[in-house]
Amino acid sequence: MASSKKNDTKSYGAVADSKVVAPTEQGREVDKKLDQHLNYEFGGPWGVTAMMTGFPMLMYYLWICLQFYDGHIVYPSSLDDVKPFLLRMWGHVRDDATPTPYAFAIYSTFFFYQLLLAFIIPGYKQEGLPVPSLNYKTLIYNCNALGCFYTTIVTVAWLHFSDTFRLTEVIDHFGEIMSVAMIYGFAVSFGMYFITVLRGEQIRMSGNFAYDVFMGAALNPRIGSVDLKMWAEVRIPWVILWMISLAGASKQYDEYGYVTANMWFMVLATFLYLNACCKGEECIPQTWDMFHEKWGFMVIFWNFAGVPFTYCYSIIYMATHDPAKYEFSTLGYVALYATLLTAYYIFDTSMSQKSRFRMQMQGTYKFRWTFPQLPWGTISNPKYIQTAHGNRLLIDGWWKYARKPNYAADLVQSLSWAIVIWNASPIPYFYPVFFVTVLVHRCGRDFERCAIKYGKDWEEYCKVVPYRFIPYVY
Ligand code: NDP
Repeated sequence: MASSKKNDTKSYGAVADSKVVAPTEQGREVDKKLDQHLNYEFGGPWGVTAMMTGFPMLMYYLWICLQFYDGHIVYPSSLDDVKPFLLRMWGHVRDDATPTPYAFAIYSTFFFYQLLLAFIIPGYKQEGLPVPSLNYKTLIYNCNALGCFYTTIVTVAWLHFSDTFRLTEVIDHFGEIMSVAMIYGFAVSFGMYFITVLRGEQIRMSGNFAYDVFMGAALNPRIGSVDLKMWAEVRIPWVILWMISLAGASKQYDEYGYVTANMWFMVLATFLYLNACCKGEECIPQTWDMFHEKWGFMVIFWNFAGVPFTYCYSIIYMATHDPAKYEFSTLGYVALYATLLTAYYIFDTSMSQKSRFRMQMQGTYKFRWTFPQLPWGTISNPKYIQTAHGNRLLIDGWWKYARKPNYAADLVQSLSWAIVIWNASPIPYFYPVFFVTVLVHRCGRDFERCAIKYGKDWEEYCKVVPYRFIPYVY
């Protein structure tokens, strides 16, 4: 044992002395409680209704500012201008973002191709965490995102270079495709709600229709071997986002005969994120999105429409504006790339340290070689806190410095995606500003849940690891 300190409810230990963990009787009671609807989050029914109507409007507004007003934030100049302003906005949506059959064909072909690949490409089998609502049964996840990603690269390269479908079409028809993505987001959220309720598979329901559509009804929606929630989390948003960055690079090349270092930065940044999700897909079943969050509007809409069509603003700006507006000095580029690579390293290794620790605790960890495997991605003999619930909390590696080191690193990445065009437009700063709000809120929800789940052990953990994101800062 690396260090030990025992009393009635806790002990600190290392993996070498561990047996596979299982929830205690006390743990099972708490898990049962946490599988009930306890209290409203996100401002309750009114809050989620506002978000369901506000998200699409905000997405249209930001896109209009970016596309038609040179990336400036526009607003009515006086009270009298409010109506004409709203009419101008509506005019852009009507004329430039009508979901055309062509846009439906592009999004639907991509969507169903990804689904088809998920069914047919062989994958690495990973056992998920025990699911309390399934009497602690574990589900098997077919992790084939990497194979699907490589197949998609070959397919898209062929489509692009054979002029069958040039990637730049995605930027030329951005508004229309974004509208289709939103329609998919709404249709699948409502469809999933009704299907789940009709099948009697709903969990943690509040009884309020709007709230339950927003939070979702199903915890583990599946079609055969495909876990829809895990499939949708990676195969739609991050693949589209990377495709948009390639489209942006292609657009610059057509226009200027070269691709700027800023655009290459976005190609690299979105590739790293997507590749991390694919090459470490076996770690995803250990995340909160998989074991706790249901498949509702919040997750579905953001995966199908929000992530791909809002995190890309700097790419769209660069694809449609003169590089002189945002190019950096050599030193600026070195700082930008170095920041991204450092943040990525911490993001990748902190996520894998915790996920692999959880697999080790469950006895399901096997080394899976994918590219790249970074040093310190797995901690041997990590220190942890043994909880009365039965689970163990990692207090080693990046996790001895903060309770959410992965969030801090992810936030820096998101900020770099906006800084890439410096002050040429404020619109790309939407992503880091939105993301910090999401992560602080998500962190609060998670810690509240963990405080109920682990009680005094959580208090002890917070004493051992007092900072949330960054040591001595927050
Ligand atoms: P977390 O690391 O926050 O996982 C939270 C869960 O892990 C807790 O509920 C708890 O579960 C368990 N846990 C917490 N601390 C410990 C510990 N010290 N040791 C062992 N287990 C612990 O990951 P998330 O799932 O929230 O996020 C995954 C990633 O996804 C993050 O990096 C985030 O930034 C990213 N993300 C990105 C988004 C985007 O749009 N770009 C959106 C949302 C997330 P238990 O109760 O089982 O112990």
